[in-house]
Amino acid sequence: MTDAQYFLEGTYLIASCLFVLGLKSLSHPDTARRGMILAAAGMAAAVFGTLFHPDIHSYLFIVIGLVVGSAIGIPMAMVPMTAMPQRTALSHAFGALAASMVGIAEYVIHGGAMGGIKMGALGLEVMLGSLTVTGSLIAAAKLQEVMRGTPIMFKGQQILNMGLFIAMIGSFTAWLMHPGVPVYFYTMAACAFLFGVLLVIPIGAADMPVVMSLLNSYAGLSSAATGFVLGNNVLIIAGTLDGFSGFILSILMCRAMNRSMTNVLFGGFGAPLTADTTVSGSMREVGLDDVAVQLAYANQVVFVPGYGMATAQAQHAVRELGNLLEERGVSVKYAIHPVAGRMPGHMNVLLAEANVPYSSLYEMEQINPELPSTDVAVVIGANDVVNPDARDNPKSLIAGMPIIEVDKAKSVVVLKRGKGKGFSGLENPLFFKPVTGMLYGDAKASLTNLTQAVQKV
Ligand code: NAP
Repeated sequence: MTDAQYFLEGTYLIASCLFVLGLKSLSHPDTARRGMILAAAGMAAAVFGTLFHPDIHSYLFIVIGLVVGSAIGIPMAMVPMTAMPQRTALSHAFGALAASMVGIAEYVIHGGAMGGIKMGALGLEVMLGSLTVTGSLIAAAKLQEVMRGTPIMFKGQQILNMGLFIAMIGSFTAWLMHPGVPVYFYTMAACAFLFGVLLVIPIGAADMPVVMSLLNSYAGLSSAATGFVLGNNVLIIAGTLDGFSGFILSILMCRAMNRSMTNVLFGGFGAPLTADTTVSGSMREVGLDDVAVQLAYANQVVFVPGYGMATAQAQHAVRELGNLLEERGVSVKYAIHPVAGRMPGHMNVLLAEANVPYSSLYEMEQINPELPSTDVAVVIGANDVVNPDARDNPKSLIAGMPIIEVDKAKSVVVLKRGKGKGFSGLENPLFFKPVTGMLYGDAKASLTNLTQAVQKV
């Protein structure tokens, strides 16, 4: 090996270690920030090392790519936290597009003159990469609401999907047997692009995080396959880490919703387009001063944040109210549902940003047994994750999804702006229960006003 190759492999080794350490650190909120820094440093090391690759004869296209990538990436990174899921979906689409294009370029350069294993890896790279590109774009469009979020279904869809899947695998197999016939290769790529669209359109927007995590896993496996084709170790390691961590995350999210992966991916088929609950009674509005008195004299208050806290950017306001209550001797806890908000860990990130101590955060399984003895549960812009229909109504679209059982608390106060529904579009019977009082308004304004009102009690 030349000095440049030693340097290249050395940076790849450092990058791979940083990826593993980063991923390990991401598994706990206390170390997550460090994990991101380690992973970013790993990526910087891998990119820097690649600049010394002996196959690079000119830096012109690399500089052009850097300028174009930065021009797209920097504005994309500036989106608000609430738009992060669709931004992530777009990143997956770009990553997968890069992998597919490398695969196609390798085929154009080498034709069928590659070993069997390399051919298989290249085929997988292009197939998984291509379906991830279009699948991720559809996911981003659904999450950004430029496309209908509800499942899109039509007659004969299952047969079409099955036919396309068979055509994709069939042309892949035919190409492996006849590598010199490009039509098989390009038919496989075209089927994969189309299959990505058809795979995601029948899935409702509420299941999109699982789908995205799964597509992320495909993009990772596609990158690992690229690594095999190019003989690039860091791509193999990073792609495999990405592929399997994405897959594990998908499984964990399915568990959090009490759904199987098959149900998420194919549950839309044949399901009614709308299913709702019947609610009786009316919502009871409560006043700021009444809630302030309840909070000030409570023994235990549990805050349950949801997507509305993120849109209102109310995390600092809730921490200020929580601190004030603690100073008055109230026990304050924050209940975190695994799919509250719009991405895994959404609430943890926001509350950590507001310096809420990690020891005050309670996972759903930990907090539920404590709710019957809780004086006031304050729901801050959460809806689906506290919807008792998921537990009580087997016909509900979210039946079986575990919830934070705030309806079992002695009193519930819901902070939301109006009568808007949650992400699933379902009505929430919690809001109609006698135990619940509705405090209408933007969550940040309501919490700030509550802090002032508690100070006067
Ligand atoms: P949700 O069901 O989307 O409900 C959010 C509620 O917040 C709405 O009912 C809305 O009511 C209220 N709201 C919005 N802006 C507000 C503001 N400025 N101030 C006060 N309230 C505001 O949220 P969730 O309970 O967190 O449930 C999450 C949902 O997203 C689940 O269905 C989950 O499956 C899905 N999802 C999760 C992820 C993930 O990984 N975490 C990703 C994608 C989707 P008003 O309009 O009346 O104010």
